[in-house]
Amino acid sequence: MANYINNLTPRKSMLTASQIKHMVHEYYRCRMRCCPGSVLHLLRSARLQLCARRGRSRVPVWIKDAWAYMRLLLQSLYFNSLTDSDVVFDSVFEPVFWAVDYVTRWFGLVFVCLVVILTCSILVIAYVVLLPLILNTYSPAWIAWHVCYGHWNLIMIAFHYYKATKTSPGYPPTEKNDTPIVSVCKKCIIPKPARTHHCGICNRCILKMDHHCPWLNNCVGHFNHRYFFSFCLFMTLGCVYCSISGRNLFLDAYSALERFKHLDVDKPGVPVTGMGVLIGLLPHGQTNYQTPAPTYTFKDKMINKSIIYMWVLTSTVGVALGALTIWHAILISRGETSIERHINRKEMKRMEKWGKVYKNPFNYGKLNNWKVFFGVEKKRCLFVHALSMISAFLLPPIFLLSCVYSHWVTRVLLPSGHTPHGDGLKWNAFPVKTDLIPV
Ligand SMILES: [Zn+2]
Ligand SMILES: [Zn+2]
Repeated sequence: MANYINNLTPRKSMLTASQIKHMVHEYYRCRMRCCPGSVLHLLRSARLQLCARRGRSRVPVWIKDAWAYMRLLLQSLYFNSLTDSDVVFDSVFEPVFWAVDYVTRWFGLVFVCLVVILTCSILVIAYVVLLPLILNTYSPAWIAWHVCYGHWNLIMIAFHYYKATKTSPGYPPTEKNDTPIVSVCKKCIIPKPARTHHCGICNRCILKMDHHCPWLNNCVGHFNHRYFFSFCLFMTLGCVYCSISGRNLFLDAYSALERFKHLDVDKPGVPVTGMGVLIGLLPHGQTNYQTPAPTYTFKDKMINKSIIYMWVLTSTVGVALGALTIWHAILISRGETSIERHINRKEMKRMEKWGKVYKNPFNYGKLNNWKVFFGVEKKRCLFVHALSMISAFLLPPIFLLSCVYSHWVTRVLLPSGHTPHGDGLKWNAFPVKTDLIPV
């Protein structure tokens, strides 16, 4: 193809319109494989020369370009002998995919703002409306529980959301290296390590890609998968906590608002208006009507409405996000990402036809998968952890040594910024089922 183009190029200025048309026709007839960009360039150069000879054209250039591109796209579909239904489907729906990616990319920031605003609105209600109520009516034990649990949950949500949005998911190296690869990305034109996939929205390859999350405005990959899952988990827990503990308040607020509505309807008198004098509803000499004071205040109404808003929002998000969290928990237990779920199902069906059983090479067993995911190293009881915390003040070196180890409490139930196991480039392909993996 390169020789073919090179042979043509020096003679370009001497060609006539019919010769150029013939060249393009010959090019297709030869059925030589080439990249669409080169063909488009050839078409463009031919068109420009034709236009230059014919003088000004009435049709705008961009329409001609689009038309040439569409023709080229159509011809390329049956030009390539490897064309199948997937290629045709991708080509036909390319504008739809592009539009979805474009909208998701540009609305990512809007989604993030929405998450922050909605969470802050619940926080304001909790501090302004609920906290005084709890302090005035609850027993000291319940006050301690609500204050401690509420703040722990809030810290976990804020920490993991911030880390999930700000942590890079991880990208494969673009320079030459000795990383084992499984394929080459058609869009980035770089080698892809195992579990790496291309994100159309980020427009680059992502290590151990799970999915692109618009609510984070970030891809979920190797380095922020744990933050994403922990955010979903703690946000669900927070919503369920608000929904359950605020259920009675919601019922009271709802019935109070209903009562206020009846009070408004049953209120005696007429509206305060100057028309009252004209139609004879007001006594002679009186210019305005004294409406009886309502039995509730505006503040009461707003408090009840905000409690209803909080309960409805947290219950809805709790159910939706809870389902998503459970789904991701199932995937993590199986040692697969959302993308690998589809790939593994296809492989399973393919192997079934051959009478074989497909095994996910990244499934290390349920408990091991969770340990790898959270970066849990070894079990350690709370007592030992408390001792290590005390030693932090007395013997800092011992504390530093104890920090080398981790466990379920410090890495799962407390904010932890540790990096995940592995670099996301190399993966142990076969499971170790005899013992737990010492991560
Ligand atoms: Zn790519
Ligand atoms: Zn992405």
